[in-house]
Amino acid sequence: MKVGVLKGNGIGPEIVAAMQKVVDACELGIEWVNVPIADEAVALYGTEVPEESIELLRELKVAIKGPISVEKMAGRLTYTRKDGTSQIYCSNNNAIRQELDCFACPRPARGIPGISGKNENVNLVVIREISEGIYAALEHRIGKDEASEAIKLITKKGAERICRYAFEYALSNGRKKVTCAHKANAISLTDGLFLETFRRVAKEYPQIESEDLMVDATAYYLVTNPERFDVIVTMNQYGDILSDLCAGLVGSLGLGAGANIGEACAVFEACHGSAPDIAGKNLANPTSLILSAVMMLRHVGMGQWADLIEDSVREVLIERKHITRDVGGKATTDEYTNEVIRKIREKMGK
Ligand code: ATP
Repeated sequence: MKVGVLKGNGIGPEIVAAMQKVVDACELGIEWVNVPIADEAVALYGTEVPEESIELLRELKVAIKGPISVEKMAGRLTYTRKDGTSQIYCSNNNAIRQELDCFACPRPARGIPGISGKNENVNLVVIREISEGIYAALEHRIGKDEASEAIKLITKKGAERICRYAFEYALSNGRKKVTCAHKANAISLTDGLFLETFRRVAKEYPQIESEDLMVDATAYYLVTNPERFDVIVTMNQYGDILSDLCAGLVGSLGLGAGANIGEACAVFEACHGSAPDIAGKNLANPTSLILSAVMMLRHVGMGQWADLIEDSVREVLIERKHITRDVGGKATTDEYTNEVIRKIREKMGK
């Protein structure tokens, strides 16, 4: 099977290499196809997200991506297509998501005994809508420097497909409840449309419990009683914030896996950024990307290998002997990765 791999920048190349070593240890015959992005793409094509890379991703259908810093293009990336049309995006990530029509970003947060403190029993997933909302880069200045305005775009079609995705995700992953996080009391037209759509879609899934909560109350309950949550479905920006919060709840951003899912294409990625403060120092925790690869293997029907990798990762984390600095250990990225591989090989009887 061919899988696209985008190295990203900052800690991206380090954690991508660690993830590849772990997946390769399973001997699944995966052929990694390099997809140039960010600095590598600039050197080759003169732009951070070239259409050549997007076309390759469309062809491959499944890819995994290291984080990319948004610093360089100061929140504005002009994506130019070969037909001469162009589009401004607020980040490289957004350009990839939008051009591939990825709309769902599931981000699981599962506690780990010995690392997650009182949250070791947390087991939830935030499903973030990623094709619209306030990150649609619909913003402009008013007057010289007097004011700026951003438009929050919520469509019935967008709300419906993410809500349906959340219920389908719950069904296929044995989950029992879906919570919609919104602020419809304050933003009644946009968030109101999202909430109304959620309630309508929920009726099609009577076997799954549904509830809705204000996003501020959701944040409060996530901190005070996170075990009450199972699946949370929400709009782009709320999901961005809540999923980082959930990674923090279970111990570290370095544990946060994620994916960008569309009808035709899926790009798996860690939920954190490029962590420039620790880049190139062999300190990064690659768990986030290894668990993103676990999601990818489940996506392509290799569930038993996904379980094997996830179990090995959890064992190494629970033992605490070879864990990275961000989760309270002293191990380097390489030492931790090698220990995960040792567990995998042991389980394979090698
Ligand atoms: P960017 O500009 O790409 O968003 P950032 O530093 O602003 O990068 P993150 O990369 O999300 O944001 O990092 C936030 C903090 O979490 C940093 O201190 C970083 O070192 C830490 N961090 C993020 N990912 C990891 C990881 N995989 N392992 C260890 N620490 C991490």
